[in-house]
Amino acid sequence: MRLFVAVTPPVDALDELRAATAAARSAHPDLRWTRPDQWHLTLAFLGDVGADARADVAVRLGRTAARHAPLELALRGAGRFGERVLWTRVDGDLAGLRGLAASVRAAARKARIAVEDRPYRPHLTLARGRDGADLRPLVDALAGFAGRRWTATEVHLVRSRLGAGPDRTARYEPVTSWPLTGS
Ligand code: ATP
Ligand code: MG
Repeated sequence: MRLFVAVTPPVDALDELRAATAAARSAHPDLRWTRPDQWHLTLAFLGDVGADARADVAVRLGRTAARHAPLELALRGAGRFGERVLWTRVDGDLAGLRGLAASVRAAARKARIAVEDRPYRPHLTLARGRDGADLRPLVDALAGFAGRRWTATEVHLVRSRLGAGPDRTARYEPVTSWPLTGS
């Protein structure tokens, strides 16, 4: 099962982002825009995980969530990964978010799941481009966006079903969620 671990902004924060990106979305049907009802902040991408490792990592993620406190976050501005990915920045308790992402990666490794060890780049993916797409004007257009503060209170283990969503997009289905109950 293809899995990732994420936190999800609440619906009011997502509505703001949806409004802030509406013009860009209609101006750029050439990009593959992610669906607002699927928006999330990935903490760690686990890839294809077998049943035993899934059970193992679930137990470990429960312990991880119990050690970490809720996170005060906000969405703000935009950035890009080359010509490929347009995203919104994350603001607020980035140290807490990085710490949580590191713990989630460690939990996955202990469950013998190979996770990447590139530096963690907190972001919410808005759109994916093709080679040659120029995302810079979109980053500039979204630069003034400053979303409200919100609190991440839960960590979600999410299943990704590639091609199962509308127009053969990926569909994300929460498998298990754990509250952040640390202090
Ligand atoms: P598609 O691959 O068809 O574009 P997708 O990227 O939305 O679909 P997945 O590839 O299953 O779906 O990824 C699920 C989530 O994990 C997304 O937020 C994606 O950006 C993130 N992700 C995928 N691969 C990695 C990776 N190697 N490192 C970090 N995050 C990743
Ligand atoms: Mg992908």
